[in-house]
Amino acid sequence: MDSAIDLYDVDLHCHTTASDGLLSPTEVIRSAAALGLKGIGITDHDTIQGWQEAEIAGRNYQIKLVRGIELNTDWKGREVHILGYELDGSSDYLNRQLKGLRKAREQRMLEILDRFNHLGVQITFQEVQQFALGESIGRPHIAQVLLERGYVSSIKEAFERFIGRGAPAYVPLYKLTPEEGIGLIREAHGVAVLAHPGVRRLEDGIPAWIDVGLQGIEVSHSEHNHEDEQRYRTLAKEYNLLMTGGSDFHGEARKPGVKIGYWGVDEEVILQIFDLAQRN
Ligand SMILES: [Zn+2]
Ligand SMILES: [Zn+2]
Repeated sequence: MDSAIDLYDVDLHCHTTASDGLLSPTEVIRSAAALGLKGIGITDHDTIQGWQEAEIAGRNYQIKLVRGIELNTDWKGREVHILGYELDGSSDYLNRQLKGLRKAREQRMLEILDRFNHLGVQITFQEVQQFALGESIGRPHIAQVLLERGYVSSIKEAFERFIGRGAPAYVPLYKLTPEEGIGLIREAHGVAVLAHPGVRRLEDGIPAWIDVGLQGIEVSHSEHNHEDEQRYRTLAKEYNLLMTGGSDFHGEARKPGVKIGYWGVDEEVILQIFDLAQRN
């Protein structure tokens, strides 16, 4: 890698094979350790399945693990992602809710396959599942089927031509509201953080979300430009919110150019998260 790049100590936003990432929790952690990172956050969509393996890898590679999750929520037709950190993974309520969200993902996938059927393309659920190595299935997995079968030449094209918003096989996913997502994370004693607000300019919602338990904003992120970072840093200070950051790593073939450690935070943020979670 380019030695001129100054990496962050900690990358708090990484996906693994438990959801739509290409690397296993162990592989993500091994990569982070090899890059010299001191900590890593595993934040899969709607599942904590990767935590156990990540804990073992964290010990083996001597890197601090921040156990996380990412929830897709809907706010007046706009997609709002909420990160949860250091939740109580043994919470029955949390696990029941996550199971429901994953069930909705499977249901949505069946509807997408039905759309393809009407378009004259037969794809089975089993085929999609071959690419979903964990329990949380998503559109990147069917995009992979389309790529393998030669219908598209990239994941991006699969979204643009078939499964993205407005495309012929697009089916919206059932989502919680941001308030419900934040409530779920707080109910499980976790720290709720607004993910990459710059992607859809979500600052209007922040005051109301703080009222229901939002405690942080993701400031450093691969889809934030310099102005976004400045804007959310200022907002975080104004509202006294935790500033988090991470790459949103999914694997090079799935999200080209999004590399572990290029976005993130200093090591002390881990302690701030642990401290908040302990008091939640
Ligand atoms: Zn996200
Ligand atoms: Zn993410």
